[in-house]
Amino acid sequence: MTTLSAQRVTIVGGGMGGLASALVLRRQGAQVTLFEHAPAFGEVGAGIQLGPNATRILREWGLLDEVIARGFRPENLVLKDAVTGHVLTKQSLGADFVARYGAPYLVIHRSDLHAILLEAAEREGVELLVDSHVESIVDDGGEVLVTLAGGREHRSDAVLAADGLASLTRDAIVGDGPVASGYVAYRGTLPETGGHGADVVAWLGPHCHFVQYPLRRGEMLNMVAVFRSPAFLRGEAEWGGVDELDAAYAECSPEVQQAVQHLWRDRRWPMYDREPTENWGEGRVSLIGDAAHPMLQYLAQGACQAFEDADALDLYAARTPGDWPTTFSALAAARQPRTARVQRTARVWGEIWHVDGVGRVLRNELLEHRDLTDYRYLDWLYGRSRDDAGAPALGDEAVRHEQRHQEAAR
Ligand SMILES: Cc1cc2nc3c(=O)[nH]c(=O)nc-3n(C[C@H](O)[C@H](O)[C@H](O)COP(=O)(O)OP(=O)(O)OC[C@H]3O[C@@H](n4cnc5c(N)ncnc54)[C@H](O)[C@@H]3O)c2cc1C
Repeated sequence: MTTLSAQRVTIVGGGMGGLASALVLRRQGAQVTLFEHAPAFGEVGAGIQLGPNATRILREWGLLDEVIARGFRPENLVLKDAVTGHVLTKQSLGADFVARYGAPYLVIHRSDLHAILLEAAEREGVELLVDSHVESIVDDGGEVLVTLAGGREHRSDAVLAADGLASLTRDAIVGDGPVASGYVAYRGTLPETGGHGADVVAWLGPHCHFVQYPLRRGEMLNMVAVFRSPAFLRGEAEWGGVDELDAAYAECSPEVQQAVQHLWRDRRWPMYDREPTENWGEGRVSLIGDAAHPMLQYLAQGACQAFEDADALDLYAARTPGDWPTTFSALAAARQPRTARVQRTARVWGEIWHVDGVGRVLRNELLEHRDLTDYRYLDWLYGRSRDDAGAPALGDEAVRHEQRHQEAAR
């Protein structure tokens, strides 16, 4: 399909959201130029989880086999109490899960996933430029002028700003700022020696959690530790330092305390999101990916939602080819309610994970008695249809649940 063949599109940012958007528009024939301000394309060397809402889309794009080949297919999602080490609940990712959502749950090294998208974009003929920091974007109604550091100018018919959580474009459009959660993440990888098994395991502790899962066909173990920073609570500007790391896990089981020793200690990720916004841009300029809806990572959905954005972009760009104001307003209208729900739910899910005291006792009680075949809280997230990009929840069971809920509310 080449419905966009006369159209020039600029993408700001070569993360996974930018590359995915570039790929779908190039495949419709647009001349796509992507500016990345870093000196080279790449991603941090840690893992990423992909729910079936993302892997279905990767299959549509013809990339799923490669992602499976380079990634790992976990058997279960397991929640454990970080203090006692007891299993609280588990979600099988086996045949029933795959049949229900139509695609597998996968984990993959970020640099592998990024490389798969980059190679696909290169193959399609996206113009990919590094060392290119976009300083300003001006839409004059007829075309959009992008000015880069050093004064270089670039004109196009439309601009998608995929410049991430700290998006300067969002600062200009919305004028809000990132919201600090007070939690910080440390990551790490290890050669897998066979002790971990095939599950994604999350240990939930008071004001902290710790996640482990295999990568690269099970040859590597990925780890993420997230904890609340006492320095943040004291109002200090510098927070989440390595001095706080070990103390954060002092109450946790020896297994967790020992694993924390293997994290990278020279780099950390203070956790920020932003408030959901309906304003994704105007006219020929739109935010996309984290720039539009940065979220805390507790549902493992930031990149998955960026893929859903690109999938919806593909749909709406084909419906109104070259009419960018209509395409972009349809994209935001379709996607915003869902991404806002994921952003808000991620915050709540983090609170549930990190609860202490009587809350922790109640959480554990509820999780321990969860019916292992209950998909009620997963359907809205993982069950979606490409033909209805704005629908919040799909799957027969989810629809029935929603109807029951609405009847009860009447
Ligand atoms: C600890 C942690 C764990 C996570 N785990 C998961 C997970 O398991 N599953 C999942 O789906 N998501 C996860 N996420 C979220 C996911 O990483 C992000 O949502 C996703 O990477 C966002 O992609 P993006 O392309 O929108 O933004 P980014 O990846 O931030 O890319 C933005 C790009 O824009 C470039 N840029 C910025 N400004 C400019 C400019 N002015 N000019 C040119 N270029 C610019 C940047 O250099 C960058 O390359 C996690 C996040 C964290 C922090």
